[in-house]
Amino acid sequence: MTLRGGIDLGGTKIQAVMVDEAGEVLGSARHPTPTAGGPPDVAAAIVAAAREAAEQAGTETAALAGVGVGSPGDVDSRAGTVTSARNLPGWTATFPLAEVLGEELGTSVALGNDVDVATVAEMELGAGRTYSSLLGVFWGTGVGGGVVIDRKLWRGRASAGEIGHMVVKVGGARCPCGRRGCMEAYAGRGAMEARARKKVRNGASDELFRIMEKRGRPRLTSGVFARALERHDPLATDLIDRAIEALGAGIASAVNLLDVEAVIIGGGLGTRLGQSYADRIAQSMLPHLFSDSRPPAVLVAELGDLGGAIGAALLVKSRARRRRALAAT
Ligand SMILES: [Zn+2]
Repeated sequence: MTLRGGIDLGGTKIQAVMVDEAGEVLGSARHPTPTAGGPPDVAAAIVAAAREAAEQAGTETAALAGVGVGSPGDVDSRAGTVTSARNLPGWTATFPLAEVLGEELGTSVALGNDVDVATVAEMELGAGRTYSSLLGVFWGTGVGGGVVIDRKLWRGRASAGEIGHMVVKVGGARCPCGRRGCMEAYAGRGAMEARARKKVRNGASDELFRIMEKRGRPRLTSGVFARALERHDPLATDLIDRAIEALGAGIASAVNLLDVEAVIIGGGLGTRLGQSYADRIAQSMLPHLFSDSRPPAVLVAELGDLGGAIGAALLVKSRARRRRALAAT
């Protein structure tokens, strides 16, 4: 049996998995993303994570059918390059990631956009497998999105699915993208943290930051938010309520345009907070839905934390599929 490798390259962690033909995870490894250096350092960390996951699955990387990588930034999957990956250290220029990894790992390497591969994973193997159209919403540091129509990912001219930058308030809060009133300016964990710091400076409860320090975290992670919500911290509650209101307006607007059957909520916050918060997002969509008598299903991503890496593995065409493709030509 030939395995496929999948890598989810994130701003804080590198998740590697080894999956079989059915998408079952047989080995996995998680390494922190280097915070200094440049693309070669990130590539070295990817290689280490891939080797560890392969070893756990009882194989080596050179024996794999290939390795797929879901990456942030501008991904050119044909050229095998990644340009200006904002959350990765020193990654502004174009770097030949597929070639560098391929030489080290001894197998072919395919690249894809991180959010796209996570959306496809949910469609093929996760919460979206019974639907023909869906919207993936990845609620984390930012808010990413993927659009599936007739079981196919819609990429537009390469940048479709940027649901985080749907405008939910004209002239509203400043977004990390530099524009105003985007959904991400209210719902992205990064924007929420910036607002939390400002609120605490102005005298709000600092419970969120006390939990963060106790856990030895440098940021307000999804786990920190979840804990503060359990404790009914008023600041965390207010930030999350505001995020849910923005998500409801932005997602409902996208649904008014596309009329998808399902909305899959993933990302760090989405998976950590779970179905009860997905239900709250569904509620907050209702006032904005044009066809409010038949709202789409709103579900938490089933593949959770591993979805991005599993989706990246799907970039590697299976031997059977490759044979079929060859036979068809
Ligand atoms: Zn924006």
